[in-house]
This record gives sequence, C-alpha cells and structure tokens, in this order.
Amino acid sequence: MERCSNCLGCKWIPFDKIKSQRFGENCPSIGYYNFNTYAVRGRFQLGLALLTKDAELSETVTQAIHSCTTCGACDVACKVTRYNLEPHDFNLALKAYAIEKGKLRPKQREIIESLAKEKTMMVGKARSSRTAWADGLGLVDMTKGKADMMFFAGCKASYDEKLQKVARASVKILQDAGVKVGFLAGSEMCCAVRAEQMGFREEFEKNARANIKLFADAGVKTIVTPCSDCYQAFKRRYAAQGLQVQVYHVVEYIEKLLKDGALKLTKPVPMTVT
Ligand code: SF4
Ligand code: SF4
Repeated sequence: MERCSNCLGCKWIPFDKIKSQRFGENCPSIGYYNFNTYAVRGRFQLGLALLTKDAELSETVTQAIHSCTTCGACDVACKVTRYNLEPHDFNLALKAYAIEKGKLRPKQREIIESLAKEKTMMVGKARSSRTAWADGLGLVDMTKGKADMMFFAGCKASYDEKLQKVARASVKILQDAGVKVGFLAGSEMCCAVRAEQMGFREEFEKNARANIKLFADAGVKTIVTPCSDCYQAFKRRYAAQGLQVQVYHVVEYIEKLLKDGALKLTKPVPMTVT
C-alpha cells in the first residue's frame, strides 16, 4: 500500500495497447462512482487509513469496498505499467477484512445462504435440479464409472436456460470427437470463486476443499469447463488449495482435439471472431 506511486495507471488500459485514450478506462468501479476511493489507488489509501485507524468501516466505506467487481483490470495495469503491487490480492484481502468485521451488503447474505444450502450462488436454484441440463446426453457418472475427463458445467451453464445450450453443445462436440465425457452427476458444488471475490474466504475454502475431495474420490485427472469463472477457480485458486489435475477451458480442449486430428472441421466459417 505504501509503495503505490499514485500514478493512477491502474485506472487505465495501458495506452500503448489501445488506439485512443477514449477507450482507455478499465475500472468499472471508479468509472461509475468517479471518486478516487473507488479505484485501487484510493483503496490502498483506504487500507492504510483502516490500519492506522484514521478511517473506520462506516456504511460509505463498506459500500466503497464492495463496489469493486474484482475484475482484475487494475492488477494487469499495475503489472504492465508500474510496480506489480498485486492490487487483485489486495482487493480480495480488503473485502475479506470487511466480511470478517461483519460488514456485508444485504444481498450478499442471501447469496451465501444459497451457497451453504443449495451449493450454488444462483439464488432460488435447487441442488436437486443441477444436472437437468445433461438429461439424455449419456454422460458417464464418474462417482460410479470411468471417463476420459470430467465436464464441469458450472452453475450458470447448469441453471441458466440460454447457457445450458452451450453446455450441451460443448458435450456433443467432445462426444463427436470420440471423447468419453464424464460428470459428477450432481454431487459437485459451485466452485465458489465468487464467494472469495465477495470476501467470504472461509466459504470459498470450504467449498474448494469439498470439491477437491470429490474430484479425488472420482479419480478425476482432467477437468474441462465451458465456464470462465470455474476455469479461473480450478486453474488458479484451487491450485493454491492443492488441486493437481489438468484444467482446460472447453475452447482449449477443442483446439487440442483439432490439433490431434480427433476432430475435423468440414465447413469454412468466413469470419474473424474473438
Ligand atoms: S498503477 Fe500501481 S502504482 Fe500506480 S496508482 Fe495504481 S496501484 Fe498505485
Ligand atoms: S478489480 Fe476492482 S478496483 Fe480493480 S479495476 Fe476492477 S473494479 Fe476497479
């Protein structure tokens, strides 16, 4: 916190990476609230003030802390332009500090209660319907049998009707390439990385440990997911909790199948996509 130079580079996409400063703002939090405390530079000052007791966790301060989306854009910008002060870890720590002190936003309680009860942070969704998206796909239940890899749909693709189509299409592509696709038949839980992003470290670690045990008991060696959050959770945050399996985003896995020749493209798609 003390080493921050107040350059405010963390508020911008590094200018040499973009065509115009007009497209340069990267922090949604200060973009919306337009006050320094809402960018990580100001959050560093706030953190110092909390340590020295020159500030307290008032309603306004709590709101400012939780307004960070943990998108990580400031972290990339500080690494590229300045000192690599690890703003992302700091933002997580600041939120965890607020939660430890019982300072949360009203909606967060509902979300964390849903995680505890239904093992998903999608409020209103039941654990019993978690695998409805996979009906009729012939996935191998890895708690009973063996498969080439475990497909982890994640909460959004499991419950959101539009994203269920993505999960189903992903599985069909993998099966067409001859991959024996497995899943945990509903025994898995939310990756809970959003809990960590909201400051609920204990809840995240509890879910991570429970999922890691489920994966180990089912003999999972490879995880494939269509969810960017789950991907980040397993690849980065679970690795720190001891997960030792190969993790692919489904797009990476499909690229691997194309390179291995297991999957062949038959029709040209004349467009550039990102
Ligand atoms: S880019 Fe890094 S050094 Fe510069 S203000 Fe942001 S956190 Fe501080
Ligand atoms: S992680 Fe938080 S402080 Fe950093 S750019 Fe995103 S919203 Fe802003």
